[in-house]
Amino acid sequence: MLHKEMKSIMGKISPQLPREAKCTRCRDQATIRMTNHNANFCPPCFTRFVQTAVKRAQKTFPFSQDKPLMVAVSGGKDSLALWDILNELGHETRGLHINLGIEGFSHASVEAIERFASERQLPWVQYALKDVFGHTVPQIQTRTRRKICGVCGLLKRQLLNRLTVKEGFEVLAVGHNLDDEAGRLLGNLVRHREQYMDKLYPCLPSPHPRMPARVKPLYRLDAYEIVTYCQVKNISFLDSKCPMSRGATSHSFKEALQFLEEKMPGTKRHFLFKHLRSKKAPRNGHGFGTCKKCSEPAFQDLCSVCALEEHLNQPEKNKMP
Ligand code: AMP
Ligand code: ZN
Repeated sequence: MLHKEMKSIMGKISPQLPREAKCTRCRDQATIRMTNHNANFCPPCFTRFVQTAVKRAQKTFPFSQDKPLMVAVSGGKDSLALWDILNELGHETRGLHINLGIEGFSHASVEAIERFASERQLPWVQYALKDVFGHTVPQIQTRTRRKICGVCGLLKRQLLNRLTVKEGFEVLAVGHNLDDEAGRLLGNLVRHREQYMDKLYPCLPSPHPRMPARVKPLYRLDAYEIVTYCQVKNISFLDSKCPMSRGATSHSFKEALQFLEEKMPGTKRHFLFKHLRSKKAPRNGHGFGTCKKCSEPAFQDLCSVCALEEHLNQPEKNKMP
């Protein structure tokens, strides 16, 4: 079952194909309509199309394809599809999940990952935010007036990096897709956030010996293509948004682009890819020091995780009107 928003996207861009529709590649019966590529596919040709999109993404990654990949898995469609594709392409992978301690949602995330991994006998590891940071996400929310999605995003980013290195991996693969990246680009442009533009690149090299490279092999595929892949491959993912992310502005930017996409198919791809082509790949970072509290790489005296911890330890001040 797909949630309401996804059902509406699928319904609008995936009209029922007539029985006589032919696959654009092999002329077998087609069951999948790809409006934005003006093509129809049978399931095997669609799978090949998805794998080709990931291989094209990987061509832009400036390191050997043989390195084992740590895959950040949330249990949602993107990260499970990503893990499946990387596994099918022959990569050595391990799943990494951070349990955020959100009632109901976190449990369902772990169930989806467990089911997926055990069906395919894939190794994975889970860390609880409560253990590695001392608080769950709902506990953090009671101690700060900051927007919880921003705080959670910061923690996930930093801790995924640290845990990837701790587990002995050099590369972390995340499930951000074309809609995420195009939405982020629009958000950055609307708010003139020049300083975040580099983060949109599909491969961010390791900026420090104690930080992994971060890759986004799904950046050429949109939500419709990824859900379709999950359906074709029988991947049962967690199909609900985080209950704490309601009203997040990132959703609005994606919805705005989806509105344009339905009127002008291809808009999202053109918007993102044209931008990426005009950018130089980011180079290895510099200017890192060491956090005086935890010794992790940091730009200031404290790393962003320790700075957040200090902020949360002043609950009265943070919550005052
Ligand atoms: P999101 O920011 O929730 O859209 O997630 C983007 C990507 O971050 C996902 O596709 C995953 O690769 C990764 N991710 C999100 N949440 C988690 C989590 N709790 N544990 C591990 N990886 C995650
Ligand atoms: Zn620190």
